[in-house]
Amino acid sequence: MTICPGCGSTSTSKLFEVTADEASRHFINPRQYPDRSRKLTCHLSDLWGGNTCDVRKCSDCGFGFADPFVAGGAEFYNLALVYPCFPTMKWEYARTIEELTGLDTLGKTTLEIGAGLGYFLDCVKNKFFNISDISAADYNEISLSVLESKGFKTFSSDFRQSSFDPLKDSFDFIFMFQVFEHMDKVDDVFARLNYLLKTQGTIFIAVPNENRTYYMEAYGSLVDMPPNHIGRWTKEAFSAICERHGLQLSKCEREPFDLAKFLKQDIVHSFLRKAQKPGTLSEFVRALPRSKAQRIAQGLTALAISPSRLPAWAYAVSNASTLGGSALWARIDKVS
Ligand SMILES: [Zn+2]
Repeated sequence: MTICPGCGSTSTSKLFEVTADEASRHFINPRQYPDRSRKLTCHLSDLWGGNTCDVRKCSDCGFGFADPFVAGGAEFYNLALVYPCFPTMKWEYARTIEELTGLDTLGKTTLEIGAGLGYFLDCVKNKFFNISDISAADYNEISLSVLESKGFKTFSSDFRQSSFDPLKDSFDFIFMFQVFEHMDKVDDVFARLNYLLKTQGTIFIAVPNENRTYYMEAYGSLVDMPPNHIGRWTKEAFSAICERHGLQLSKCEREPFDLAKFLKQDIVHSFLRKAQKPGTLSEFVRALPRSKAQRIAQGLTALAISPSRLPAWAYAVSNASTLGGSALWARIDKVS
C-alpha cells in the first residue's frame, strides 16, 4: 500500500512507470556522453532499488509523486545536469514582489532556499530588505560565490540539517522557488521551515503547475522525470501539509496562460522529447558538438516538427484558463 506524501491518504493509483534507461535518456544523450549515460542509468537503479520508478497520483489531494519517493542527491545532479541553468525573471518572482508590496518588510529578515545566482534577491534587496538582512542558501559552488560577491549571507549546507547555522525563529520571510518539487521527506522540510520562521512570518513557494505537467505528458512533450522532480503539488496537497504543521495556506494561484511563452516552451520541449528517441533526426542534431551551427540545426529541426504540434496547441488554447502557465504559487503564513 502506498501512502500519499501530500495528505497521507492511501487512495493512490499508478499513472505510469519509467525505467532507469528512459529516465537516464531524459537527462543525458547516450550518443553524446556514453560513459556518463551508463553511470546515470546504474545510479538510478541503485536509487530506486530496482529498474523502474512509478509515478502515482492521490485521488484525495491530487498530489502526484514518484514511487519510490526519493529525491536525487549530489551524485544524481552531477551526472544528470551537464549545464546548470539559472533563471532570470519569472512570473512567481513578480507575483511575490506584488505581494511584498502590501506587507511591512522594513527591517525584516529573509532567507531564499535554492537562490541560484540571486536574481530574485536582486529584485527585492534595498527595495524591501536591507542586504545585511538577506540570507541565501544553495548547493552550487558557482551560485555561492556569486551570491557572496553580491553581499548576501550565504549557506551551503542543507537547511534541513541541524548543521544549518540559523537559529529557531530567524526569518520573517522564506522564499523557495522551484525547489520543493525536488524534495522528499516533505514533512521534515515543513517542520524545518516552521522552525526557522518567526511567528507572523510568511513563506512563498512556487512549484511547477501540475496542469501543464499533465498536458505535456499527454501530448508527447517532456515527461516531468523523477528523480529530478518527484512531487507534483496541488492546492489541496499544500493545504493538507500546511494543516499538519499548523501553518496557513493563505493564497495559492496558478500562473496565467501566456500564448507566446507557451508556444516557445512547447516547441523546445517537444523537440527535446523527440531527441530522447534513438535514431531520430532530433536525437542526431541534439548530439552534435555544441556550436553555432548546431544551435541553428536544432532550431530548424524544432521548427520542422512544429506542424505536428497543432492538435496539442488547439487543445491548450481552448483550455487555456484551466491549463495556466508554468508555475503554481503559494503564500503560507505562520499565524501563531
Ligand atoms: Zn493526497
